[in-house]
Amino acid sequence: MLLGQKIEIRPNAKQEEYFLKSVGIKRFVWNNCLSEWSDAYKRGYKPDEIYIQFFYKCLRERNTWIDEVSARIGRGAVDDLLLAFQRFFKKQSEYPKFKKRGVHDSFSIREKEKFSINGRKLKIEKLKTKINMRQKPRFEGIQKQITISCKGGKWFASILTDTSKNPFIDKVPAENQGGVGIDMGIKHFAALSDGTIYEANQPLKKKLKKLAKLQRSLARKQRLSNRWHKVKEKIAKLYYYITCKRQAVLHEFTDYITKTYKLIVIEDLNISGMSKNHHLTRAILDVGMSELRRQLEYKSKFRGCELVIADRWFASSKICSQCGLKKDVLSLAERTFICSNGCISLSRDKNAAKNLLNYGRDWIERDQKRMPELSKCA
Ligand SMILES: [Zn+2]
Repeated sequence: MLLGQKIEIRPNAKQEEYFLKSVGIKRFVWNNCLSEWSDAYKRGYKPDEIYIQFFYKCLRERNTWIDEVSARIGRGAVDDLLLAFQRFFKKQSEYPKFKKRGVHDSFSIREKEKFSINGRKLKIEKLKTKINMRQKPRFEGIQKQITISCKGGKWFASILTDTSKNPFIDKVPAENQGGVGIDMGIKHFAALSDGTIYEANQPLKKKLKKLAKLQRSLARKQRLSNRWHKVKEKIAKLYYYITCKRQAVLHEFTDYITKTYKLIVIEDLNISGMSKNHHLTRAILDVGMSELRRQLEYKSKFRGCELVIADRWFASSKICSQCGLKKDVLSLAERTFICSNGCISLSRDKNAAKNLLNYGRDWIERDQKRMPELSKCA
């Protein structure tokens, strides 16, 4: 199985220089080969792989600085272009376009001998020093390809790893590890049925506020003016930071949950409906919820957990998790659930999480009762 992971890297000045040079060389080779292809075609030739490989050889001889970085980078640009033409001829994509500076700046190394990763250190051919990575790769296996890219002023390494075996296989939870209901909220990040509350990540919350402020500021600026562009750029950077940070928080959370519990119950949030809200900060929260579900789904599968998604109409916050009595109305302002039977007085979110766990247990029980019937039929 091939798994990809994108990790932020922190190059020093020398290393960044190497990256910028590599990105430039990739663009130079691509653009030159593309224009040669088009010109040759206009002159009546039918350019093909051999033609362009020969052209590249000459290009390299004329521009020796191409060899100041790993030879795989220029080579990779030629391969990419040939592939782009193949796709074009199969009518799978449009005619290849010239690359512009600053648009999707990246380069790849596809030979595993030409780069290596050791812990949080990345080594690339023709670069003497090792590059710091912000985290270790999550997957074990053979690292087949690395793509270095730049976005929002930051550098990233996307690593493609052939795991050939399930990377989570040794982390399957024990059978007796119990279940958990998770109530996702806006006030808290999440409440678990065992009473644990995960507060919203504070730095993230502050950044969200800052983002909302910038958005208001942008609305006051004259469209396409200098100041407007400046604010717009700030927003793009901040937005990017927030989504990365949020992703990291979610991975940590879903790792913990799938390693600790056998049965996991969450709500079926009406995500498509929620995202119609145009407020950007709100939208980020919504995206977080669908991302949480996506991560829980695949990690549960890997680690052998049972993920139950409660029915959309299941009123998790209106039911007493002790006796099952349902309230007709519960305003959003009521943060504590007080049962009319007098059995509990519990935080609204914790009560909802407990109800979700009950829902999951009932669901499993019904499922198991159904199983013998099904086998009888068979
Ligand atoms: Zn009750």
